[in-house]
Amino acid sequence: MNTTNNNAAPRNGAASTPHAHSTKSRWNYKGGFDRVRLPHPSDYFAQQGLKLTGGGEWKNAICPFHEDTKPSLRVRLDTGGFRCMVCGAHGGDVLAFHQQRHGLSFKQAAQQLGTWRVA
Ligand SMILES: [Zn+2]
Repeated sequence: MNTTNNNAAPRNGAASTPHAHSTKSRWNYKGGFDRVRLPHPSDYFAQQGLKLTGGGEWKNAICPFHEDTKPSLRVRLDTGGFRCMVCGAHGGDVLAFHQQRHGLSFKQAAQQLGTWRVA
């Protein structure tokens, strides 16, 4: 029995990186956009003055995209996705909502929501 204890594995020396961003996939979406910094949908929609009602997966709110009198907008608090049953406004997250509500570009909306970092 010959136990070779040959430490041939390449060693990962302590490479000191100036920025300790450990996640790789975090910054790969449209430049400086950092999705994890998006406000939570329930915080965001409250901030935008939406009154959410209903107990299911989709909450109801008065749609800000058209002259709404009864809650026609459905929003999801897990993803921030939204869809209006009347005017058809829809999107997949609070960023899309912010863009459409305020007529902003993707980058402007991301900046306003504090999710844009200059690399
Ligand atoms: Zn609408």
